Amino acid sequence: MRIGQPSLFLRMAHCNLSCDFCDTEFADYLEFSLEEIIKILQAKSLKFQMPVVITGGEPLLQIDGDFVEELRKAGFEPHIETNGTVEYDACGHAMPFITMSPKVPCDQIKLKSCHTLKVLWPPISPEITPESFKDYPAVCRYLQPVSGDFAPALKKLYELDGLFGTDYWKLSPQLHKMNELKDLLK
Ligand code: SF4
Repeated sequence: MRIGQPSLFLRMAHCNLSCDFCDTEFADYLEFSLEEIIKILQAKSLKFQMPVVITGGEPLLQIDGDFVEELRKAGFEPHIETNGTVEYDACGHAMPFITMSPKVPCDQIKLKSCHTLKVLWPPISPEITPESFKDYPAVCRYLQPVSGDFAPALKKLYELDGLFGTDYWKLSPQLHKMNELKDLLK
């Protein structure tokens, strides 16, 4: 998780899903080469090894381990956010930090493992819940309130503490949607 940590966002066009609640504008896009992307990131970077969050749409439709390695060589710390429906090809390089926010049931997930598993709450489908992803290999597990109302997620976390142990699942607020922070992030 990178909450509170200054990061650059690299948003890729296109997605292989069409969730009816999607609030991401990824249909309008400009095309850049990898070299151009690195130059833009370097111009905006505040420090060496600044995290670059590669998101979408679905970024794994367009990137692989070679792309990630070039970002590393350019001095960034790559972090991928994916819906998990596309396997990540590391191309023989070290794995990056991967967050998976599933939008399909666990048996349709192609990504073999992730660092952070983030499940939306209330659930977007009865098949996409903490319980249905309990055996998915992840280092950290978070519930993310879909709206600004944390109460349902906190209630669910209390229930999950009883099932899986304290702090096995944690809360992940969507900071960029909080009114107080929106102006700061412009
Ligand atoms: S997977 Fe994410 S980006 Fe793709 S349509 Fe669904 S919410 Fe939007």
